[in-house]
Amino acid sequence: MKELKIRSVHLSDKVEILRGEVRSFLKAEREAGHFTPHCDSWLSGYDANFSRKLGQQNWLGMTWPKMYGGQEKSAFERYVVMEELLAAGAPVAAHWFADRQTGPLFLRYGTEEQKKEFLPAIASGELYFAIGLSEPNSGSDLASISTTAKKVDGGWNINGSKVWTSGAHHAHFMVTLCRTSARTENRHEGLSQLIVDLSTPGVSVRPIRIMTGEHHFNEVIMEDVFVADQRVVGEIGDGWKQSMAELAFERSGPERFLSTFPLLNELFQILQEEGANERASTAIGELVVRLVTLREMSLGVADLLEKGVSPDVTAALVKDLGTRFETEIAEVARQVVTTPAALQPRFKTLFAKALLHSPGFSLRGGTTEILRGIVAKGVGIR
Ligand SMILES: Cc1cc2nc3c(=O)[nH]c(=O)nc-3n(C[C@H](O)[C@H](O)[C@H](O)COP(=O)(O)OP(=O)(O)OC[C@H]3O[C@@H](n4cnc5c(N)ncnc54)[C@H](O)[C@@H]3O)c2cc1C
Repeated sequence: MKELKIRSVHLSDKVEILRGEVRSFLKAEREAGHFTPHCDSWLSGYDANFSRKLGQQNWLGMTWPKMYGGQEKSAFERYVVMEELLAAGAPVAAHWFADRQTGPLFLRYGTEEQKKEFLPAIASGELYFAIGLSEPNSGSDLASISTTAKKVDGGWNINGSKVWTSGAHHAHFMVTLCRTSARTENRHEGLSQLIVDLSTPGVSVRPIRIMTGEHHFNEVIMEDVFVADQRVVGEIGDGWKQSMAELAFERSGPERFLSTFPLLNELFQILQEEGANERASTAIGELVVRLVTLREMSLGVADLLEKGVSPDVTAALVKDLGTRFETEIAEVARQVVTTPAALQPRFKTLFAKALLHSPGFSLRGGTTEILRGIVAKGVGIR
């Protein structure tokens, strides 16, 4: 069996100073009533104004080259900004996917024209992307997608539909995985990534509501949608390799264990005010120990990114452990909070969102079973 090595990271003073700046900014924004903390705010907290403010603070596209609107900061500087935003439950959903994965995808595979067109606008918090991978009959088995793009004069003609497309009703573009040549024995061949402008004729974005009634994800139907050759990402036929590289960014961040942190924070406050009994203290203590460990592991993933090493296996492991943790925060809250405290409006909102969003945590970005398969292969036991 191969060992999975995760290095322990010590954050420098420079990084901690940046953390202080982000905290002060968030405190001022909260006190000014510009946002209220929410659980799962990276998926459901859409606020274009807030994203633009983060762009003005230079906290988007942080690790990208300056010539494309970035700041050439380290993966750790980016990490502390992300963790502070998530811990505060700030509304970061508008730009989240573009900053996390579409930007790095363009940096790695995009043309010069695409980098110049898209990256500065993403870094200023003004341009949003959706991720068009899953389809009604293809989720975990992504290579079975049936959306097709056929070559036409000057571009490609797309037909097909994507599903569970987070934020597509707000996004300007969707990076869309399509089949560009007929399926062969190697199902990973013949797939390509195309940038679909979601305002193009032939695109319909239909809401899918979650059980709270909220609208965060969609079905995106494409009927004879034209995409110009200039909007192909990387090489035609390399879509599988490129999508897998993108998924490593998708799975590697602190959002995979901090989605319900605002509820944990609220739990502390309630138990401090009420005086925690032994059962509650033990339950919270256990959560905190796991949080510290997960954070160490997650920083280890950021360390791999900083060194340019693909974090895919480690990120899969951290995501599996992380999503279980963020789901259990809601369960512990249910068990330890007394009825009067549970009826406080602030608690009720955080708790309801944590509980009702949590079934999606272990599905989005790759299900538990798929992640465990990746880890098993990575350590050589499968
Ligand atoms: C909140 C949320 C947001 C999302 N946002 C997006 C988005 O923006 N863009 C996008 O493209 N997709 C998005 N998705 C879709 C997500 O990527 C898929 O739900 C996920 O990949 C699983 O696919 P599926 O739902 O088709 O389930 P399936 O793949 O059908 O899986 C069903 C069950 O079978 C299990 N299973 C499947 N294959 C295997 C196997 N080989 N071995 C063992 N068990 C297996 C799975 O683990 C799961 O439990 C989102 C999903 C959620 C919940």
